[in-house]
Amino acid sequence: MSLSRNSNPDPQSPPLHVVAKPAGPDCNLNCDYCFYLEKQALFSNKRGFRMNDTVLQAFIENYTRSQSTPVVEFVWQGGEPTLLGVEFFERVIELQRRFSNTKTIKNSLQTNGTLLTDQWCTFLKEHDFMVGISLDGPQQIHDLHRHDRRGKGTFDMVMQGLRLLQKHEVQFNVLACVSRESANHPLEVYQFFKDSGVEFLQFAPVVERVCNPESIHRGLNLAGPAALTTKEPNTRVTPWSVEAEEYGEFLIAIYEDWVRNDVGNIFVMNFEWALNAWIGNPSPVCIHAQQCGRSVVVEHNGDVYACDHNVYPEFRLGSIATESLLAMVEKSQQSGFGVCKETALPRQCQDCDVLAACRGGCPKHRFVVSCDDQPGLQYLCPGYRNFFRHIRRYLKVMETLLENELPASYVMDVIKGPLVIKRPKT
Ligand code: SF4
Ligand code: SF4
Repeated sequence: MSLSRNSNPDPQSPPLHVVAKPAGPDCNLNCDYCFYLEKQALFSNKRGFRMNDTVLQAFIENYTRSQSTPVVEFVWQGGEPTLLGVEFFERVIELQRRFSNTKTIKNSLQTNGTLLTDQWCTFLKEHDFMVGISLDGPQQIHDLHRHDRRGKGTFDMVMQGLRLLQKHEVQFNVLACVSRESANHPLEVYQFFKDSGVEFLQFAPVVERVCNPESIHRGLNLAGPAALTTKEPNTRVTPWSVEAEEYGEFLIAIYEDWVRNDVGNIFVMNFEWALNAWIGNPSPVCIHAQQCGRSVVVEHNGDVYACDHNVYPEFRLGSIATESLLAMVEKSQQSGFGVCKETALPRQCQDCDVLAACRGGCPKHRFVVSCDDQPGLQYLCPGYRNFFRHIRRYLKVMETLLENELPASYVMDVIKGPLVIKRPKT
């Protein structure tokens, strides 16, 4: 492999985040709201979406070299990465050992959970993988949109996968998509996860615009990222996209339950990010970060794209075979991708009282106009605004607790009545 000269990272440079798609846009399921499967239309080789050994080696060597931090985190995603079988990931471990040098390697795998077996879970446990499993809630909610190729609901198969992860004590979290329908059932969804023994979960709003002439020309059914600086003529979302206000109400209802009963026991990432922002830390998640652009995608064929939501020809940064990941990320930043998340914020966001927590959300969804008719406002704005404003009262309490070196979970006692803190005798 010949890399460009810029392949030795400055130890001070911020870390890269890389998502690998070893099965490309291929999956054994066919969920209604998936924005990735249709990307098959963008690849010239429409079959064989599999990362071969040459690309895999190049990727692992390139990434371990390009990463500035002593820990290198590999995220395997899809499509469905388990389609490659355990053998592929055994080879991953072998190559990571070969190229890790003095660095510590961590792995996480995002899966629909339907292909997990005892063999898979034994492997995942042995190699300490963090698994993200996609599950939208109880059966009637999950099966609304998450189907197999014959249109049959997948709830039973996913639950079987989740039980196997629990049986083998594999670390896992749940990624739950919030659609127009599920947004109406916040407490049912949350209670289901608690009853199922889920301790770590994240809610992802489903937002996709219907196709426009450009996407039709490309053979796609969904519109691409928003233009940000010019008004988008197409603001119509798909019927299953969550409505902005309802998304905010959904988060608020769950937060109200969580903040009374579950702080410190259940970790809802959306709530952790909000507390993190409130106490002044940089956001660990791109959508609420000031700028983005350091989370690139490596496709099955070695092509590198600016982000998971921007796998389109105009966002292709190069190939893992010929350039260092570091150089490609820098190229992306020089082109302005990621920076414009901050610089193209409309005035409404710049003046917003919850900007520090929201940061305008993901640019892909900034396709509506602001109250003063500027382009580039976040479609989910009303929901984000209401949610962040609503939880401020609790965040203030948690901040005070943390400043006094007390656990944030004491917020549950504060809500119940006057809090008497017995400090341990010294
Ligand atoms: S465009 Fe959206 S998903 Fe992509 S890196 Fe930026 S915030 Fe994240
Ligand atoms: S809540 Fe709305 S106005 Fe405020 S930062 Fe977020 S998107 Fe912008």
